[in-house]
Amino acid sequence: MEQFVIKVDNHLIDEMKNYYKNNLIDKVPQGAIFVAKTDDCTITGYKSGKVLFQGKNSMEEGEKWLGDIISTLDKKESKDRSTMLNPSPLPADFSNWSIIGSDEVGTGDYFGPITVVATYVDKEQIPLLIKLGVKDSKNLSDDKIIQIAKKIKDIVTYSLLVLHNEKYNQLQKGGMSQGKMKALLHNQAIHHVLEKISPKKPDGILIDQFVKKELYFQYLEETNVRYKELAYFHTQAENLHVAVACASILARYAFIQHMDLLSQKAGFSIPKGAGTGVDEAAARLIKEKGSEVLPFFVKLHFANTKKAFNLLKG
Ligand code: MN
Repeated sequence: MEQFVIKVDNHLIDEMKNYYKNNLIDKVPQGAIFVAKTDDCTITGYKSGKVLFQGKNSMEEGEKWLGDIISTLDKKESKDRSTMLNPSPLPADFSNWSIIGSDEVGTGDYFGPITVVATYVDKEQIPLLIKLGVKDSKNLSDDKIIQIAKKIKDIVTYSLLVLHNEKYNQLQKGGMSQGKMKALLHNQAIHHVLEKISPKKPDGILIDQFVKKELYFQYLEETNVRYKELAYFHTQAENLHVAVACASILARYAFIQHMDLLSQKAGFSIPKGAGTGVDEAAARLIKEKGSEVLPFFVKLHFANTKKAFNLLKG
């Protein structure tokens, strides 16, 4: 039987029990907090924080919650997650190939959109891009990101897609997992770049991995995917090819710009991430602009929504 396991904190496990409240069954095994049965998945939440998804739809059901747990993963758990994704090794000289790379930003941030970028980097361009300071965007300050992004956006061929909060919330409410949203966005951005560089073809396509390869293509079942045999998946791919590092920088640049816009609309500076500062900002936003503006600013299904309303009550 297919199964999928995630580890969550106490708060999220209560949240999950509540989410599945219409599917709960009475009999729970020892050590479990709840068992829920949907049409094609059984979900068991344990006191230890482990949540087990079993059945045909287990990966997709479990994926729904990855956006929520990203913010609470510590270093060790991140490692577990990358082992879980089980990346296949890349060819030895891969970093010198002409590659389309793709990456996304904003999936673990309560405020703001998801931005996805695919870039094509020709092997001739690699030395120049390295000279311009392209590397893992996670280690660069916002100022540095902006500075480098402005230089590389005129050098590389790229496609940027922005999934705004309103649309994100619609899709999420309709039952689409964050994993599927990301797969659709990566896929679309990659196809755009393939069209832009045609008739030239890349040596390969490297996707910064967020789900197993099989699940990525499963998400795209109803879509025409034209690059299957060229696709490579790897976690922390921004360290493995400059094309993904460029994608990561451009995606973060777009994210920063959209966060600035949201801050202007809110009338105060909106924080990134999903920590307590974010709960306070959401509470302030609700107080000053009304709860009806929230779907345009945040990812509503995150636990932060409830925390913000609790702050207002308290
Ligand atoms: Mn990534």
